[in-house]
Amino acid sequence: MEHRPQLPWYRRLHWQVIAAMLLGIGIGLTPSGDFFAEKVGWVGGLFMRLLRMIILPLVITSIVSGVASAGSGRTVGRMFGKTLGYYLISSLLAALTGLLLFNLINPGRGYPVVDTGAEPPTLATPDSFVDLLNTIVPANFFEAASAGDMLMVIFFCIVFGAAVTTLPEGPRTKITSLVGALFQAMMALTTNIIKLLPIGVFGLMLTTVAETGLLSFGNLAQYVMALGSGLAIHFLITLPLLLYFFARVSPWKHAMNMKEPLLVAFSTSSSAATLPVTLKTVREKVGVSDRVSSFTLPMGATVNMDGTAVMECVGALFIAQALGADIGLSTQIVVVLTALLASIGAAAVPSAGLVVIFIILGAIGIGDNPQAMLIVAAMLSIDRPLDMARTAVNVYSDSCAAAVVGHWEGEEGIDQEIRG
Ligand code: ASP
Repeated sequence: MEHRPQLPWYRRLHWQVIAAMLLGIGIGLTPSGDFFAEKVGWVGGLFMRLLRMIILPLVITSIVSGVASAGSGRTVGRMFGKTLGYYLISSLLAALTGLLLFNLINPGRGYPVVDTGAEPPTLATPDSFVDLLNTIVPANFFEAASAGDMLMVIFFCIVFGAAVTTLPEGPRTKITSLVGALFQAMMALTTNIIKLLPIGVFGLMLTTVAETGLLSFGNLAQYVMALGSGLAIHFLITLPLLLYFFARVSPWKHAMNMKEPLLVAFSTSSSAATLPVTLKTVREKVGVSDRVSSFTLPMGATVNMDGTAVMECVGALFIAQALGADIGLSTQIVVVLTALLASIGAAAVPSAGLVVIFIILGAIGIGDNPQAMLIVAAMLSIDRPLDMARTAVNVYSDSCAAAVVGHWEGEEGIDQEIRG
C-alpha cells in the first residue's frame, strides 16, 4: 500500500517520478542528450518490458478472482446479475464519454512523432459483427494467451469465473481461494514493478526528449484536457444521474458521505488500497447493508473502473491519431469495446490503466509499433496526477453501484442524510 503519509516527500513515489521526469528531460535537452539516450535510454525499454510481462497473469487472476468470488446460490446470482449489469452500463457510458471528448479535442493531431519515413499504420479492425465475435472468442485459450490476444483471454476468464460460481461449495472455495491468492501475488509483483517507475520514466523521458524534443508535451496537454474533461463529466454528471434515477438518492448527499474514500483514492491511486475505507464508509455513512456492500465493492474494485475506461478510450485513440492513422467508425467501436474490457482487466493498483492500454493497441494492430511505445512512455511520465483522478472516479462508481444495488434489493435509508 502506497499511502504512507509519514514518509518524507522525497521518498514518495509521485515526487520521485516527477524528479525522474525532470532529470530525463533536462539531460535529454543537453547537447549530449543523444549520447546519454543511447547509453542509458535502454532502462526505459526494459521497464516497458517488465510492465508487459505482468499483463497476462495479472489480467487472468484479476478477472477470474473478481467474477468467481461472487459466491453461489440464487440470491447471489440475482445480485450478481444486477451488479454486473450496472457495472457494464456505467463503464460503457464512461468509455463513450472518452470517445466524445476525443472527437471534440482530437488530442493526437500534429503530434511530433519521429519521422522514420514509414507510412502511417493501417489500423486492423474487424469488418463485421461476426468478425468481431471471432476476435473475442478463442478457439484455443493457450494459443490466444501466448499470442497476447487479450480480448480472447478476457472473454475466457469471464466465462470461466462465471462457471466457477455455479460449482458446489467445496470445489468453488478451493478455486476462489487459490486464484485469490495468485491475484494477491500478482498485485504484490505489480506494486514492486511500479516502484521502479522513477528509473523507467527517467529512461523513457530521456529517449523521448532526445529524439523528439519538448514539442510532444504540447500535445500531451491536449490529451490531459480531453481525459480531464471526460473524467469530470463522468464524475459530475453521469454518475449523479445514474444515482438519482437508479437509486433515488441525492447525489450531493452521496458525494458528501463518500469524502474520505475519495481522498484516499486520490492520494493512493489504488482502488484496492482504498477498498477497506470504501467498505467502512459505504456501510456506516452511505447506509448500505453488509450483504450488498461486501458483494458489490470488492467486485467493483476489481472489475468496475469507469475512470480507467475513459482513459483507455482517450489514450488509445490519441496514440493512433498521433501516428497519423485513419480513425474510422469501426475503429472507434472496437476501441470503445476493448476499452471496456481493458478497464475490467486492469488491476486496482497505481498506473495499471496504462499497462493495459496495450490490449487496445493490440486489438487495433499497433501493439508493437515502436513509435506507439514512445508515446506511451511520454504518457507514463505524466500519468500520476491523471491516475489519482481516475482512481477517485473508479472508487466513486463502485460506491454508486452499492447504493443502486442496495436500492434494487429493497433497502431503505441509503444516503438519507449527510453523516459526519
Ligand atoms: N489506479 C487505478 C485504480 O486503482 C487503475 C488505473 O491505473 O487506471 O483504480
